[in-house]
Amino acid sequence: MGEKVIDGIEKIDLNGKDKPKIIIIGAGISGIATADTLIRAGFTDFKILEASGRTGGRIWTVEIDEGKKVDLGAHWIHGIERNPIYKIADDNNLLKLRHGDKGLRHRNCFLTEEGKEVNEKVVNSVNLAYGQLIIQAEDFYQSSIPTEEENDSVGAFLEREFSERLEKYTNGDRHIREMVFNQRKLLECCISGCDRLEDVSLSEFGGYEELPGVHYSIPPGFEAVLEILKSSIPKDNILLNHPVRCVHWSRKNCNESDYKVMVECENGEMFYANHVIVTVSLGVLKAAYDRMFDPPLPEEKVGAIDRLGFGIVDKVILKFDKPVTEQDVFRIELLWDDDNIKCNDLRHTWYRKIYSFEVLHESVLVGWLSGKEALYMESLTEDQIAEDLVEVLKKFLQKDHIPSPSKIVRTRWGNNSSTRGSYSFIKVGASMTDIRPPGLSHSQTQRQRSHK
Ligand SMILES: Cc1cc2nc3c(=O)[nH]c(=O)nc-3n(C[C@H](O)[C@H](O)[C@H](O)COP(=O)(O)OP(=O)(O)OC[C@H]3O[C@@H](n4cnc5c(N)ncnc54)[C@H](O)[C@@H]3O)c2cc1C
Repeated sequence: MGEKVIDGIEKIDLNGKDKPKIIIIGAGISGIATADTLIRAGFTDFKILEASGRTGGRIWTVEIDEGKKVDLGAHWIHGIERNPIYKIADDNNLLKLRHGDKGLRHRNCFLTEEGKEVNEKVVNSVNLAYGQLIIQAEDFYQSSIPTEEENDSVGAFLEREFSERLEKYTNGDRHIREMVFNQRKLLECCISGCDRLEDVSLSEFGGYEELPGVHYSIPPGFEAVLEILKSSIPKDNILLNHPVRCVHWSRKNCNESDYKVMVECENGEMFYANHVIVTVSLGVLKAAYDRMFDPPLPEEKVGAIDRLGFGIVDKVILKFDKPVTEQDVFRIELLWDDDNIKCNDLRHTWYRKIYSFEVLHESVLVGWLSGKEALYMESLTEDQIAEDLVEVLKKFLQKDHIPSPSKIVRTRWGNNSSTRGSYSFIKVGASMTDIRPPGLSHSQTQRQRSHK
């Protein structure tokens, strides 16, 4: 039956018969890569049904200034070996080494709310301790070490272990180390995709495989990779603005020949197929699995959807008319002091979840934040966000005047009905088998521990 193998894909000679009809739900990179794989294997009778008016899903590149791109979703290619995204980007000359071309901008400034730059030695010693604790946390999974309590979390582990290491320090020395440590935890929340590290399972934390090799960004934007994959797919095969209401996936008595699957769209259109491949996010599944599948999904799938975590991670991108940082600064690391919190109202605390501002282009700053603070930010007007963040920058940079940004772009992944969040994590109570049922290879659970 096999005809020839292209890039590891067996091309099948179907002789025109038994050609299955296939429906792919979702035109994010999973849906597009699926279609590209099908085409290369000789399957052409498929349609991609996409809810929104664009392809890409959580890959979304926009222009912030003339010729300057920013990614609202995925930004980094993490690792090289066995990374198909890296291969596409490299083959098409899309890459820039993560730290290879920063030119003048090389300095990471760890600043307090009073604008004091923290001694590099202190930062390095906390970073070292923090890195060791992360490796220890990963070891619970990798060496099958039982966790102390059934519900032990990464947050509880880090807190416990770090406070032991802090015992030898007192007063100011201790406090500054705590602030650097807390900043590392905010970064970790964005890497993991959670609100608090207390939500993340310690026993499963080391379950993701990190791909070896350096990290790259893609100057023309992550969407450039998608466009390359998309180029093999006939335009007519992608139907935008086709939100799927329900997948009837095990039909017995059907009028439309003997197709087993009928996919019903919100606009009433029906699509018949032999197979359906669903690529919607875990957030969408959590919100809709009970009405999106007929018959309902099997219990183990429903259990996995419920148990796994799907967090909100957002970006706030500020464009100024002139650079607001010094020429050599690549990133301002924000060391928030919890002693300065006067009230717990999110209106006055949401921005304290932003752990850094990175200089993306000369006068473009990007901050990341996660969880309930991110969701709150999504509810604010752009003017309010700009006003709050200008105050933050004034404080950390100790400048009396910072102009209002001329443009602000913020993401709203939590409110986006086509994703309902940003990415998944192994929540306390969930396990790696929820994303990798026994029998699937390890390469299907790759992830990186450092997206920044
Ligand atoms: C802020 C952020 C930063 C990230 N950073 C990185 C990074 O640096 N590096 C990295 O590798 N990854 C990163 N990621 C993760 C990466 O973006 C995702 O893992 C990846 O894009 C997921 O692709 P997907 O096709 O599986 O899902 P999606 O992109 O979610 O695609 C699913 C598609 O299904 C559609 N859909 C949903 N419901 C329906 C329906 N009912 N009917 C029809 N269509 C539907 C959606 O509109 C969407 O287009 C980041 C994500 C976010 C949000």
